[in-house]
Amino acid sequence: MATINTNFLKLKAGYLFPEIARRVKAYSDAHPGAAPRIIRCGIGDVTEALPQAVVEAMHEGVDEMACRNTFKGYGPEQGYEFLRQAIVDHQFADLGIAADEVFVSDGSKCDTGNILDIFGKGNVIAITDPVYPVYVDTNVMAGNTGEADANGAYGGLLYLPCTAANGFVAEVPHQRADLIYLCFPNNPTGAVATRAQLEAWVAYARANDSIILFDAAYEAFVRDPAVPRSIFEIEGARECAIEFRSFSKNGGFTGVRCAYVVIPKSLTGSDGQGGRVSLHQLWSRRHSTKFNGASYPVQKAAAAVFSPEGKAQVAALVEHYMGNAKLLREAVAAVGLPVFGGVNAPYVWVGCPAGLSSWDMFDKMLQEAQVVITPGSGFGSAGEGYFRISAFNSRANVEEVCRRLTALVSA
Ligand SMILES: *Cc1c(COP(=O)(O)O)cnc(C)c1O
Repeated sequence: MATINTNFLKLKAGYLFPEIARRVKAYSDAHPGAAPRIIRCGIGDVTEALPQAVVEAMHEGVDEMACRNTFKGYGPEQGYEFLRQAIVDHQFADLGIAADEVFVSDGSKCDTGNILDIFGKGNVIAITDPVYPVYVDTNVMAGNTGEADANGAYGGLLYLPCTAANGFVAEVPHQRADLIYLCFPNNPTGAVATRAQLEAWVAYARANDSIILFDAAYEAFVRDPAVPRSIFEIEGARECAIEFRSFSKNGGFTGVRCAYVVIPKSLTGSDGQGGRVSLHQLWSRRHSTKFNGASYPVQKAAAAVFSPEGKAQVAALVEHYMGNAKLLREAVAAVGLPVFGGVNAPYVWVGCPAGLSSWDMFDKMLQEAQVVITPGSGFGSAGEGYFRISAFNSRANVEEVCRRLTALVSA
C-alpha cells in the first residue's frame, strides 16, 4: 500500500488563483456578452514582450545548439559561470557576494519552496500576513504546520500581521523564530522596507540565530535610492540571510523561467548536536541532486538582461509598468479609497469601500466593471478588507480600468 504525504490534506482546497479563475469562468459563462470586456489585473504576470536584447541572445543560444561544434549538453548544475558572474557584477557589486554563492534555477517559486529541503523539522517559521501563498503552502506540504483554522491560519506558524498601522512592514516579533520569510518590495501590498527596518530584522536574526529568507523578486521596481534592493546591503546579513531573485518580473521571464538563489558561504545552520553546517554546502548538494540546470539558451538570454541594451530595455519595461501603477494609484485616491504600494512595486494595494469584504469587492469589480482584481483576504486574514491591483498590463487596459473603477466607486 502506497501511503501519501498526509500534510497535503491540510492544504486549503481553493488556492487563491484557481478560485479567481473559477469565479471569472462562472461569470463569463453566464454573461457571454460581457466576457470580452473583462480586463485581468489579478494574477501577477507580466504582459509586455521580452526585451529585444534578450530575444536576440536566446536566438543565438538556440543557433549554438543547432551546430555540433557549439552544441551544449548538460550545463553546470549551479548555472553557467558567465551568468553567475554577470549577476554578481551587475546586481551585487560591492556587496561581497561571489559568483560561486549564486545558484541559477528555473524560478523563484520553486526555489522558495525547495529551500525547505535543507532545513530540519521543528523550526519556528515566521510568515507575514498577508503573504505570497507559496511560502505557507510549501511549509504545509513539508509538515511544518498543524491544521488550518476557520480563517485559513495554520497552527504552528508565527504570523506577523502587516497592517496600515505598521505600513505593511512586519515588526520583529517578541518570540524567537528560526526561519523568517520577508519579501520586499512586497507582493501583495507593494510595501518596501527601509534600511532601518531591515537592519532591525538582521539584528533580530543574528541575536536569535535565525535565517531570513529574503524574496527580492521585485527589486527592479525600487525607485527610491534610499530603499535597499538586497538584504546583503545590510551589515551582517551574510551571516543570517538567503536571497531569492528572479528574471520573471524585471526581464519578463515568467514564461521563459530563470531565477537564482544567493547563499553566502558564511551562512550556517545547527545540526542539533552543537555542530554548525554550511547552508551553501547543503543547498549545493540538494541543487545538484535534484536539478540539472536551466537551459543554455535561457541562461544566455538572462545574461543579456545585464548588457547595456538589455539594461536600457528592462528600465523601459519597469518605467512602463510603474507608469501604470501611478495611474492606478491616482484613480484610486481620486475616488477616496485608501491606497498603498505602487511606488516602488508594481502592485497597488487598496482598501475596500466601507462595508465590503475583499471577495465582495472582487465580485463587484467582476460583475459591474468586468475587472479582475485579487482579493486581499486570499493572501491571509490580515489582507481582509483590501484588494490588489496589478500594474502588469498595457497602458490602454490600465486607463480603461481607471475609468471603470472611477465610475463604479463613484456611482
Ligand atoms: C513573481 C514572484 C516570484 C518569481 O517567481 P518565478 O517562479 O521566478 O516566476 C517570486 N516571489 C514572488 C513573491 C513573486 O510574486
